Amino acid sequence: MEAFPAVPRRSDIIRAFQERGNSVAAVFPIHYPRALFRAFHVLPVEVWGPPEMDPSVGAAHLQPYVCSIVQNAISFLQTGGLDVADFLVVPHTCDSLQGLASIWIDLVCPKQPVLPIYLPRGRRESDIDFLTEELRSVHCRLEGLTGRSPSDGELLACVRREEAADALLSKLRRRRATLPLADTSYYRLVRSREYLPAETFIELARSRLERADPGARVSVKAPIILSGIVPEPLSLLQAISEMGGGIVADDLACCGRRLYPPGKSEQPFRRMAERILHASPDPTRGSPIQSRLKHLLRLAESSRANGVVFYEIKFCEPELFDLPDLRRGLQEAGIPSVTVEVDINDPLSHRTLTRVGAFLEMIQ
Ligand code: SF4
Repeated sequence: MEAFPAVPRRSDIIRAFQERGNSVAAVFPIHYPRALFRAFHVLPVEVWGPPEMDPSVGAAHLQPYVCSIVQNAISFLQTGGLDVADFLVVPHTCDSLQGLASIWIDLVCPKQPVLPIYLPRGRRESDIDFLTEELRSVHCRLEGLTGRSPSDGELLACVRREEAADALLSKLRRRRATLPLADTSYYRLVRSREYLPAETFIELARSRLERADPGARVSVKAPIILSGIVPEPLSLLQAISEMGGGIVADDLACCGRRLYPPGKSEQPFRRMAERILHASPDPTRGSPIQSRLKHLLRLAESSRANGVVFYEIKFCEPELFDLPDLRRGLQEAGIPSVTVEVDINDPLSHRTLTRVGAFLEMIQ
């Protein structure tokens, strides 16, 4: 197994991009149109927390039962961690992120403009219409802020470039078992999509796929699906592998739920909306529990996973609401599961390791 693929560092990418006269947007979870920002020469760089912050600064603005991703976002801004960003983008993923956008816009008033993005909670034609118009309004806002006005042709070219990067992301997923990468290295590579420009990610993904060996399938004693929001700390993945487990598929908000398919429309705003709404089921987009269950069962069958680990962030309502029914459905289908709740500021705890370790032993 290769330990660490040479994934460019986030700070180097941001510096290089800004030195060329471009801007950077700090983007909060989960769904947003990368292509729209790139058309305005803005690099979206995602912020999932970040983990291991002192949350006390953010805690002054929030109720104690708000998740650590949002607590940390406020602390990160207040302590200068987002000074490098020219814009803050907050999709309406959940009530907590909606609250974050309101606090920033109405009370904190950061130096950067805050751009909320409202997402529909379904995938009907009317939802696609709604998101199409919402993306048009973000486009108008960016026109005013950047002084640029990309044409539909330029937008479409950016959409196609993101589609090429996402096609490679899906290919990495399909060829996972043949890639000579430990889970830690694989997720470093996959999660570099959170900040690398699509063209850089395309090169990196192609170089990794060239090293796939179709004849060599990595086998693990306890193959699992990892579900949840984000696999932090990354040492979790190494611990799973040391306990005999391996992540053969994921249903993570930062990874598997964002394998966006190509859009169909030749109209760029509609095509971006189609891509987001046609991704895998996600509770933050209002997907029915039955769709999520079917998706997990399909994943378990195709990846030959023996069980599902729900690795959840404390107080994450969209995730936690679905869990009882989802786990019951999995159990009825003969797929065992376990739930672990964490705070992204905490180191990997013995409690988590014991719980996950016992589950891995049970499903071997
Ligand atoms: S962890 Fe859950 S509650 Fe927190 S920002 Fe993400 S989706 Fe919202």
